[in-house]
Amino acid sequence: MFNYRIRDLVKSNIRNLRGYEAREVPCRIKLDANESPYGLREWDCRKIARLLRAVKTNRYPDPGAEELKRAAGKTFGVSPDSILTGNGSDELIYYLTITFGGPVLYPVPTFSMYGIIAQALGEQSVEIPLDRAFDIEIERMLKAVKRESPKLIFLSSPNNPTGNCFSVDRIMRIIEKTKGIVIVDEAYQPFSSKKGFLPLLGDYKNLAIMRTMSKVGLAGLRVGFLIADAEIISEVNKVRLPFNLNSISQAIAVEALKDKGRLDSNIKKIISERGRIYKEMGAMSGIEPFPSEANFILFKVRDPEGVYNSLLKKGILVRDMSSIIKGCLRVTVGRPAENTAFLKALKEAVSDL
Ligand code: PMP
Repeated sequence: MFNYRIRDLVKSNIRNLRGYEAREVPCRIKLDANESPYGLREWDCRKIARLLRAVKTNRYPDPGAEELKRAAGKTFGVSPDSILTGNGSDELIYYLTITFGGPVLYPVPTFSMYGIIAQALGEQSVEIPLDRAFDIEIERMLKAVKRESPKLIFLSSPNNPTGNCFSVDRIMRIIEKTKGIVIVDEAYQPFSSKKGFLPLLGDYKNLAIMRTMSKVGLAGLRVGFLIADAEIISEVNKVRLPFNLNSISQAIAVEALKDKGRLDSNIKKIISERGRIYKEMGAMSGIEPFPSEANFILFKVRDPEGVYNSLLKKGILVRDMSSIIKGCLRVTVGRPAENTAFLKALKEAVSDL
């Protein structure tokens, strides 16, 4: 008879792992997950029908996602063999960590998956707190580079959940000082006024960049890109599952990338709404919004739990970040009407409490 505890069979690093918390909370206005409010619903139905009809669901997908890599290559101005596609960029973080191992170094607070994946794979992670302006604490980071010799350094810029970009000169110093690989995670770069790191790829062999289609309308399709020197790509490609990106996601992502006008106009709308929300929040007493280069805004309130619950009672879901950054919630920029409803509910929440 099986009288062991399953728990005792689990590897110790997994037994103690707290997985990523992605809960479905019922709500009317969903502003918690940094998604785009604009998706396929805005597309012409005939175009979607045509795309779907051409997908051979009885066949495996193109293992190398070649057409998608060509389209992405044009978008990012790189050659397709500098690109690896992932089932979301989450999967690429996994593959990078499997390929190179740890230590994995990153500043905190940041995107939690860098640490979760390192732990899941039994790799050491090294976390260095950001400074008071949410920028990289460069001297401590460089000391950690020297002391720990990390194989991978993840820098989310713009950073989730703080919303700011890290100083370019600090990122450059890390790239120049490390013998490991620096991954600049540019999930939110489309919303940023800063240039990003793609133009520097050719100059630094140990620089890699991650991009995703999740923040520009295709989160449900799971499409991410690793862009790096062809040697990095071919090493990481060895651990990629053969058919990691399904045919429908490949087909729709190609079309979305080709429709640059639509992508850009949605991004513009979000940037403009971000400006409006930031300004209006800043004018409310008891709210301190932080400037953002992303599609969300981190903000500080006196009673984060009270404000979170008060918003949720009105059907508006934001993300409670207070266990990571004292007093803070994070709101994703939605459609104009959703943002207006959020602002109204927030005003009421802070005046009620
Ligand atoms: N990087 C950062 C900084 C993120 O915030 C996210 C999503 N929350 C991801 C990567 C993962 O994106 P994807 O949906 O492509 O897996």
